[in-house]
Amino acid sequence: MEIETMNFDQLPRYQPRSFVPEQINLRESKEVVGLFEQLLKRAIHSAKELEQWLRDRSELQTALDQQGSILYIRMTCQTDDQQRSKDYQHFIESVVPAVKPLEDKLNRKYLEVSQKVPLDKKYYEVYDRAVDNDIHIFREENVPLQTKVALLSQEYQTICGTMTVVFNGREHTMPEMSKYLLETNRGLRESVWRTTVERRLRDKDKLDGIFDQMLGLRHAIAVNASFQNFCDYQFRAYHRFDYTPEDCKKYHTAVEKTVVPLWKEILEKRRQEMNLSVLRPWDLEVDPLGQPPLRPFEGVEKLISGVKEMFKKADRQLGEQFEEMSKLGLLDLASRKGKAPGGYQSTLAEARKPFIFMNAVGLDSDVRTLLHEAGHAFHTLACAHHSLSAYRHGPMEFNEVASMTMELLGGEHIDIFYSPEEVKRSNQNHFEDIIGTLVWVAVIDCFQHWIYENPQHTPAQRNQMWLSIRNRFGGNFMDWSGLEEFHQTLWHRQLHIFEVPFYYIEYAIAQLGALQLWQKAKRSKAEALAAYKKGLSLGGSRPLPELYQAAGIKFDFSEKTIQPLIEAIRPHLVIP
Ligand SMILES: [Zn+2]
Repeated sequence: MEIETMNFDQLPRYQPRSFVPEQINLRESKEVVGLFEQLLKRAIHSAKELEQWLRDRSELQTALDQQGSILYIRMTCQTDDQQRSKDYQHFIESVVPAVKPLEDKLNRKYLEVSQKVPLDKKYYEVYDRAVDNDIHIFREENVPLQTKVALLSQEYQTICGTMTVVFNGREHTMPEMSKYLLETNRGLRESVWRTTVERRLRDKDKLDGIFDQMLGLRHAIAVNASFQNFCDYQFRAYHRFDYTPEDCKKYHTAVEKTVVPLWKEILEKRRQEMNLSVLRPWDLEVDPLGQPPLRPFEGVEKLISGVKEMFKKADRQLGEQFEEMSKLGLLDLASRKGKAPGGYQSTLAEARKPFIFMNAVGLDSDVRTLLHEAGHAFHTLACAHHSLSAYRHGPMEFNEVASMTMELLGGEHIDIFYSPEEVKRSNQNHFEDIIGTLVWVAVIDCFQHWIYENPQHTPAQRNQMWLSIRNRFGGNFMDWSGLEEFHQTLWHRQLHIFEVPFYYIEYAIAQLGALQLWQKAKRSKAEALAAYKKGLSLGGSRPLPELYQAAGIKFDFSEKTIQPLIEAIRPHLVIP
């Protein structure tokens, strides 16, 4: 079935183009390359001309960015439509690699010219640092390798997006199956869980193979760029200027010490409430007291109207922004076959508008996910005014503060969907999730550090290491006996490991930021929201610690920050 995705080309641009021609086909590398060459050739004699050149470069970047987003959105909305995959594939195989070396040349030109005609040091501080960094790590010979990695990511997406199982005589997508794990019938849950993981296991060798290729390519990319391993390379590629792999390892230790014990208490409480001798993997999602799953809505229209109300109660401006997104057709929320898994917010850069993608099936977690992605959307809107495209998005470690804070502050009004009893349940679930996530991030991050520091490992060693890291962070608190094969490859479903390596610690760093804002809102909601918006409006124009500071919080993910926040959460968990 052909699903009509919104025609994004109809969205009005934030401002008219002045450099990029109206009629250009941005999917054809030849036409795009021509514009880059114009920028390369242009003579620049003054700071004013240099700033105009930067604005034109931003305009081109923005137009390309939007083109890429549209192709990506169209593909993920319908991964089984061959044409959409081909269109996206053509873009990442021809346009992206053609542009990368030219971006490097533009960077070099900028560096050279800006030394002769200096610009405002403070305003361009972050931009200059990024340009300098990107020149430093760029290698032309890495471009084809990066294209290969991107194509492998697409293959991973297709494999996962088209996985279905027949259950109860009907074909189900994987997100649809996860809904049954909330059912109170333990036998049913077990059979759902087994059906799902058995289906996943059928693609185990394929996924291991894809990952091995990615690992080899990534290590080669790092070595080409004169780094010892991909971890050190990726820290630079992600512009992680304000923390080190060592800080991440300290986070792992802090979690082991301060969060895992609480996580174990949560699991132990669950075990007792469920009256079980041991917890099995299919016992984690269901309500432990045997209550039926929370059903906040039927159909995405109800989800949208409810979340709109929540935002309006939290903050009038945020409510209006969400309403406008819905009116413009910037929400694709329902789960259906062929849709890629998960949820994301993507920015349509020329319109400077956000788009939200989700697989909603009617669960409590769908409401939280929409609050989360809407937080990203508010961020996009809050920093849309920056003229430099690089400043119209923040660093990932702050982007997730934007989203996670909305889960907490927007979530204060979840009574739109629920009775007071249900509100308590939903909040308790959310805080348990936060604790679980802080632990899971440590697992995923620790695993990836090991993977890329030991690139010569075999798939069997990798799976072994996965298990031992899981156990270090409380994974053995559950009974996996007889299920080792599934347990070993549990990481296959973590798309970040495949598609955006090392992008995960951000969730923990930012969660700690969002929790700080939540604490601040307890003292004054108005102050917290004002600080939130102020932080968001800076986009990527200031270094990470300053973005946190603008939002009235500390950029820190050490034990010193974690410990008191964990204590603040504890009362919400009602642990006997
Ligand atoms: Zn997010």
